Amino acid sequence: MELWFTEEHTKNVRYSVKVEKAVYSEMSEFQRIDIFDSKEFGRFLTLDGYMMLTEKDEFIYHEMITHVPMCAKTAKTVLVIGGGDGGTVRELLRYEDVERIDLVEIDPLVVEASKKYLPFTASGLDDDKVHIYYEDGLKFVRRFFDEYDLIIVDSTDPFGPGEGLFTKEFYGNCFKALKADGIMVNQHESPFYENDAQAMQRAHARIAASFPVCRVYQAHIPTYPSGHWLFGFASKGIHPVKDADFEAWNRRGIKTRYYNTNLHKAAFSLPTYVWDLLAEVED
Ligand code: SAM
Repeated sequence: MELWFTEEHTKNVRYSVKVEKAVYSEMSEFQRIDIFDSKEFGRFLTLDGYMMLTEKDEFIYHEMITHVPMCAKTAKTVLVIGGGDGGTVRELLRYEDVERIDLVEIDPLVVEASKKYLPFTASGLDDDKVHIYYEDGLKFVRRFFDEYDLIIVDSTDPFGPGEGLFTKEFYGNCFKALKADGIMVNQHESPFYENDAQAMQRAHARIAASFPVCRVYQAHIPTYPSGHWLFGFASKGIHPVKDADFEAWNRRGIKTRYYNTNLHKAAFSLPTYVWDLLAEVED
């Protein structure tokens, strides 16, 4: 008997991955958490039936959400909102300059399950530099002013517990919580399918309303809807490419499998239809 995980990307498009084994399944206070094993993508995590990460392609997302801002400006204090699987924390810990990582994950069960079943992303969650807060990131960030060098919003999609992380209030509070040369990077949905494109435009408009520098970059993530995924880069002044010290980053000798400093520059060059979608919501 064959078992398949299927995710509805639109009402008319489904994406299926053949499952070898169902490893874990729990209903937390916030969402359904499932972990499966598959031949093609290895072990993978889904939340409320949506693909979050797979063993085979999570490096793309976690490298791009971390090394782009860290190359633009090396952060010492970092706030990661969401990210309970630990992949973003793992990449941040590759910089000895990082002194403190506050991880704000609403669902303790995601951290517990990741530590147990996703060692390839959760490896750094017990590091002394990492402080985990089981709270809603929307509320947590209200408490800070001029506190962080970098905020990474490694969230689910803009519905369910993640909805608040795509609001003007949230982005305004992230602006206040950042230092003068701070950077905010976020998971910025996708330009391809209608619903994802609208979510992306809403987020972009709200970020642009709070941040003077508001750019978008892209990566190819096979297991996300359409594979064409975007990230937001917002700051109070730092430009993601002009201010990046690529030679300094290369001297670090950080071994990556997707990110590199040439790709960093190129990732901010977007397809015309994506520029048009962004221009529609920029003043
Ligand atoms: N890092 C993975 C990836 O490769 O895309 C997926 C993102 S991570 C699993 C998303 C996390 O955001 C989930 O663990 C979810 O519980 C958390 N989350 C959702 N809404 C949140 C909120 N309002 N505050 C804090 N964490 C939230």
